[in-house]
Amino acid sequence: MSDGSHVFPKWLTEWMATRKIILWGAADLRGFTTPLDLQGKSFPLALSWAIPMTPRIMAGIQNGPNSAYADEYARVNNRIHELSQALSAEIKSRGFRSKPLAVSDRTDRINIKGDFPHKTAATRAGIGWVGRHCQIITRPFGPWVRLGTVFSDIPLPCGPAVEKNFCGRCMRCVEACPAKALKGGTWHPGLPRTAILDAQACDQWKKKHYPAYHNGHNCGICSAVCPYGLKTLKRNSSQEVASRSRI
Ligand code: SF4
Ligand code: SF4
Repeated sequence: MSDGSHVFPKWLTEWMATRKIILWGAADLRGFTTPLDLQGKSFPLALSWAIPMTPRIMAGIQNGPNSAYADEYARVNNRIHELSQALSAEIKSRGFRSKPLAVSDRTDRINIKGDFPHKTAATRAGIGWVGRHCQIITRPFGPWVRLGTVFSDIPLPCGPAVEKNFCGRCMRCVEACPAKALKGGTWHPGLPRTAILDAQACDQWKKKHYPAYHNGHNCGICSAVCPYGLKTLKRNSSQEVASRSRI
């Protein structure tokens, strides 16, 4: 869905810049089943954005989660929740429909999923692709991000959607998963999640082995070992060295 000008409204780019959100876009969701508004109408698009996790913390969970990761997970989720509520209110104040997607809410406990996949909005907004660990991978932050989504009918330029997977021959996450929950599937748009992840096996492992962290909702090993994340760590370390050498 496009407003024809292929540019975002100034207020929106300023809204994102003020909050230091550098990775965001709009996703054309016509043809998808979105959640409904209070009048029972679906939404044609969504704004999607990624908030980075702290690389040092993410690199520290290659053997399993810890309390630093659990705290970081809660911090970033809270921030996304606040941003979603604020952005949705801002869009409504401008006369359009809007609905935030819960950051991490399993409304379907049997199939272990929420109302709509954040990842679908993110890939369609051009933010990244889905790796073999069944998580979004972004160029600037690898998979070490969490996603926010706000549905709307505000006219915006959407995409271009990412339709390719850049995992190549890598299988690091598949080999590292202690639950053997990753199937090695190569994502492309429309591939069912079951071709990539055994969500039950992942969930059961977390509940059994890591109950101390968000009631068994945290693991992150597959994300921690991903080379696209580890590149972020290297980039951050060299930036820290460079800034120290300038002091
Ligand atoms: S979160 Fe843990 S158990 Fe689930 S797929 Fe990743 S490594 Fe496996
Ligand atoms: S670890 Fe390798 S296979 Fe897994 S998501 Fe990252 S790049 Fe892809």
